[in-house]
Amino acid sequence: MAAPVRFVILGGGPAGNTAATHAARLGAQVTLVERDIVGGAAHLWDCIPSKAMIATGAAMSSARRSRGMGLETLDAGIDLEELGPRNAAITGHLSRSVCTLLESQDVRLIRGTARLKGPHQVVAETEHEVVELEADAVLVATGSRPRVPAWAPVDGERVLTTRHAYPPPQIPEHLVVVGSGVTGVEFVHLFASFGSRVSLIISRQQVLPDKDADVAAALEADFLSRGVSLLKGARAEGIDRTEDGVVVRCDDGRRVAGSHALLSIGFVPNTEGLGLDAAGVETDGGFIPVNHHGQSNVRHIYAAGDVSGKLPLSSVASMQGRKIAEHVMGGHTRAHRHLDYEKAASAIFTEPEIADVGLAETDAFAAGRKIRVTKVPFAASARALIDGDARGFVKIVSDPATGVVLGGSIVGRSASELISVIALAVTAGLRVTDIVESLLVHPSLAEALAEAAE
Ligand SMILES: Cc1cc2nc3c(=O)[nH]c(=O)nc-3n(C[C@H](O)[C@H](O)[C@H](O)COP(=O)(O)OP(=O)(O)OC[C@H]3O[C@@H](n4cnc5c(N)ncnc54)[C@H](O)[C@@H]3O)c2cc1C
Repeated sequence: MAAPVRFVILGGGPAGNTAATHAARLGAQVTLVERDIVGGAAHLWDCIPSKAMIATGAAMSSARRSRGMGLETLDAGIDLEELGPRNAAITGHLSRSVCTLLESQDVRLIRGTARLKGPHQVVAETEHEVVELEADAVLVATGSRPRVPAWAPVDGERVLTTRHAYPPPQIPEHLVVVGSGVTGVEFVHLFASFGSRVSLIISRQQVLPDKDADVAAALEADFLSRGVSLLKGARAEGIDRTEDGVVVRCDDGRRVAGSHALLSIGFVPNTEGLGLDAAGVETDGGFIPVNHHGQSNVRHIYAAGDVSGKLPLSSVASMQGRKIAEHVMGGHTRAHRHLDYEKAASAIFTEPEIADVGLAETDAFAAGRKIRVTKVPFAASARALIDGDARGFVKIVSDPATGVVLGGSIVGRSASELISVIALAVTAGLRVTDIVESLLVHPSLAEALAEAAE
């Protein structure tokens, strides 16, 4: 019998831990090295704590909305003392679940810092020892951290990155958010729902510059209705600390004074000190370029997750890990389908939520592609009216000749859940009639999908 494939993974975030369990299931001898928490930044800093705090804000707005549903409600305040432990409890629970899964698949977990010593050698330094590992295949899945430009004096007190926000030292009286991508707008929403006054510095002319214009407009309208100041066409180029706050300076001369500033202007990959040179692995701007199998230029060394420079989403990182595990174990020759980044669903956890998948209307027009676009507002949905929140719409993009669903966007309550239906249709190549003819629950928000597919 051939010796099992020795697969060594650097980093236990969504990319690393999914690759580990899947490869072990397929018969590999897997070692995973993680220097911090199994589950990764995704659990500790990014997806989970941000959504846990957004859920607190959502509970507050839901309580406020309930007044219109015949309930007497208290105007509750936020207890910062409760938020930190709540985040830690959720993160801890999820991390333990991943550890149990790794254990059940006999994955060797080393808690330490890993680097490559050569193309087939990985060194893991733990608190007590240095472990040398031989590998037939290696996965670099060391994630990323927030980008901090030289002009931003981040101190974790008044000038924050997203990592200082779980929770911040105090609820900002006036928060100036720099960066209007997905993460930036989620923090605008989060702190506006906590009662902070919020100003958003937007370098272009709309929030979420890469999203469908209808979607961005719906979010901007919501922000304006909640008193958020939108400073468009302004690029931050400096932050000064004042006695009791900050002043953010913009390149067009505008200055925005606030109590706190929060930076959300991208991320840098964690690839320094990994010994990539020693192994001959090429990088580009710190990222590790990979082919459609996730292989770097050194074919048995793979990269996944944020270090690969593809879509920076936890869901994508996990799927990359899964596909790489299959490739390492030779499974790609059977039922393996390449990961299609164009078909990744994503959501923005604002209120209303925003979610999309596949081809966007704007991109189709830009490419001169013929499409059919249908749009239905939630105002016509019985369930949305019952729930007291009929904001938003469902939009479905399909091929006019075949009826195949190409994409869609949803703005509204539970958009992050509802988009799964369109994501499945896009991945499986279903037609609009497949959605229309599904026997759905009534009353449900999903009925709006069937109507939009009509
Ligand atoms: C505020 C915020 C919110 C987000 N929310 C979402 C969301 O809702 N949904 C979503 O899909 N995505 C979200 N993302 C993106 C998502 O968090 C990342 O895309 C995802 O974490 C990438 O996974 P990863 O496995 O590449 O890396 P990570 O999750 O960063 O994990 C990498 C791991 O490698 C470890 N490591 C690093 N170097 C070494 C080393 N030398 N040795 C050993 N271990 C090492 C780190 O400790 C870490 O645990 C969010 C991002 C941010 C910033």
